[in-house]
Amino acid sequence: MRFGTEVGKKHSQELIRGITMNRYYCSDGTRVSESAIKSRLTAAYRKHYVDTDGVCEGCGGRAEGTAHIVPKARCKVLHKTEYIWNPVNWFKACHKCNLKAETSQITTLMNYKRILPVIELIDPEKYRKLI
Ligand SMILES: [Zn+2]
Repeated sequence: MRFGTEVGKKHSQELIRGITMNRYYCSDGTRVSESAIKSRLTAAYRKHYVDTDGVCEGCGGRAEGTAHIVPKARCKVLHKTEYIWNPVNWFKACHKCNLKAETSQITTLMNYKRILPVIELIDPEKYRKLI
C-alpha cells in the first residue's frame, strides 16, 4: 500500500478537520460546526420565542427554558442536526421536565401525546421502543 498519495492525503486532512472542528451531519448531507449550531439555535429562539407565556408544557408549572423533544446529542447521532434549531423539536419546560425529556420518564410528561409524533418523525427507533 502506498502512503502519501494525493487522495489519501486529502482524505486524512478531511478526517482531521472533521474531528477538530466537530462537524455534524444534517439530513441533506451538509455538515455544521458546533458554533454554527449555537448561532442558529440562538437565532431560532429569538425568532420563535418572542412572546412566551412561561408555562411548562410538561407539568403546567413555571417554564424555565426550552427542552428538546429529541435531545441535541441524539439529533447529531441521527445525522439530523437541523432539528436542534427547528422549533418543531422544542417545548417550553421547567428544569425537571427538561431532564425527563432525556430519559424514559418522557412518557410521564403532560404533553407526551403531543410530542410523540415528533419523536416518530425524528427518531423512529426510539418511537418504536416507546409504543
Ligand atoms: Zn415541568
